[in-house]
Amino acid sequence: MTETYQVVIVGGGFAGVAAARDLGRKGIEVLLIDKNNYHQFQPLLYQVATSQIGVSEVSRPLRAIFHRRRSVRVLTDEVTAVDAAAHTVTTVDGTTYRGEILVLAAGAEPNFFNTPGAQEHAYPLYSLLDATRLGGAMVNLLDRSDRESAGAGSVNIVVVGGGPTGVETAGAIAENIKYVVPGYFSTALAARCHVHLVDLVPSVLGAFSVKSQTYARKHLIKAGVRLHMGTGVTEVRDDGVTLADGTTIPSKIVVWAGGLKAGDILSGSGLPQGRGGRIDVRADLTAPHVDGVYVLGDAANITDARGAHLPQLGSVAQQSGAWAARNIHADLTGGTREPFRYTDKGYMAMVGRGAAVAEIGRKRVQMQGPLAFIAWLGVHVALLSGARQKASALLSWADDYLTHTRSHVVLGHPEVAPKE
Ligand SMILES: Cc1cc2nc3c(=O)[nH]c(=O)nc-3n(C[C@H](O)[C@H](O)[C@H](O)COP(=O)(O)OP(=O)(O)OC[C@H]3O[C@@H](n4cnc5c(N)ncnc54)[C@H](O)[C@@H]3O)c2cc1C
Repeated sequence: MTETYQVVIVGGGFAGVAAARDLGRKGIEVLLIDKNNYHQFQPLLYQVATSQIGVSEVSRPLRAIFHRRRSVRVLTDEVTAVDAAAHTVTTVDGTTYRGEILVLAAGAEPNFFNTPGAQEHAYPLYSLLDATRLGGAMVNLLDRSDRESAGAGSVNIVVVGGGPTGVETAGAIAENIKYVVPGYFSTALAARCHVHLVDLVPSVLGAFSVKSQTYARKHLIKAGVRLHMGTGVTEVRDDGVTLADGTTIPSKIVVWAGGLKAGDILSGSGLPQGRGGRIDVRADLTAPHVDGVYVLGDAANITDARGAHLPQLGSVAQQSGAWAARNIHADLTGGTREPFRYTDKGYMAMVGRGAAVAEIGRKRVQMQGPLAFIAWLGVHVALLSGARQKASALLSWADDYLTHTRSHVVLGHPEVAPKE
């Protein structure tokens, strides 16, 4: 059975939602398919894992986003096959959906770079489920270690990847050890807990300026993070990791923030895959060699007007979604597609309490410390979907900043932490 729509969009992330929202405003008939019934806000997943904010602050039901857009139908189903030439996608139950225009915005998945044991034993941080699983595993680990005698060995958590995700995660775990574990458990347990941050490259935040890197490095060390830079992970086991320089770190929890690749559904789509398994889209965001297929956000290699590759960022995904909606409208009404123009807002990373780095705009105006921290808060509130989510996240951050308590429930049940 094949159902037909004007536009079929796969993926309700930043890109898919932006495209569906703008197409819906124009009354274009859209089918938006996502395997989850909610939109998730990946930049704050590490805060869910460390109990700083709650699940409902970083997620929003897709049906709530589109309930006023009558021309947008939300379908919760997993796409298992894509035929780009035919403009069709097939879901788990075998139903096929065809779009006059097909939009592929299914994001990315962790890239373990064939590191032995990583897929089996490491905790990725790419979805809400990943975040709750990691949070549960950390609570289980603390509960178990609390039952051991004070003289028992170190309790190590290893974070692989010194980019923004790894830095933010390592910083947040270190702050929990410093401020939360002594109060909720004991100072003896906090003294046994250590966070290690590992990366092949010599510095944290490789894409940032040296000034930001130096600031982040100093702050992480001050927070208690042990840095292992310039050495990769060669093996992940259920009891620790081995590094390329021969170091072994015993650890029950290894967080994988080591890289991304495009999701599996692109591999059988008939589209040629480029760097990271992504599709090298044309300047107007359409896929090469077929008509009427767009690839957006993390699933695409997108270039700016000067031909430089854009990074896998929420702002790139969101802007590509909105731009694609304009081009799709042009396709459907006999207009002309325009090449994508990206408004570069720069990038930022939270390093810890009151500490962040930001490089604003195309000129990369550098900020660090409390000012960057405030900018980080402002940008993330603005990006969050939903007024209730924004207000609630602000309340959680204020609570964290002023009291260092963790009022969000993390389920420390073995079922949410199956890798342990
Ligand atoms: C931990 C983390 C922290 C980040 N921090 C920042 C940050 O601070 N700032 C920033 O700008 N960017 C950040 N990013 C990057 C940013 O989140 C991504 O670039 C952005 O989410 C990409 O948007 P997207 O719409 O392409 O994909 P996604 O947001 O990943 O959405 C893809 C959607 O497709 C759905 N999907 C996937 N496969 C299927 C399938 N087979 N069938 C149906 N549905 C499917 C998924 O459920 C998902 O809803 C971060 C990313 C991560 C993982």
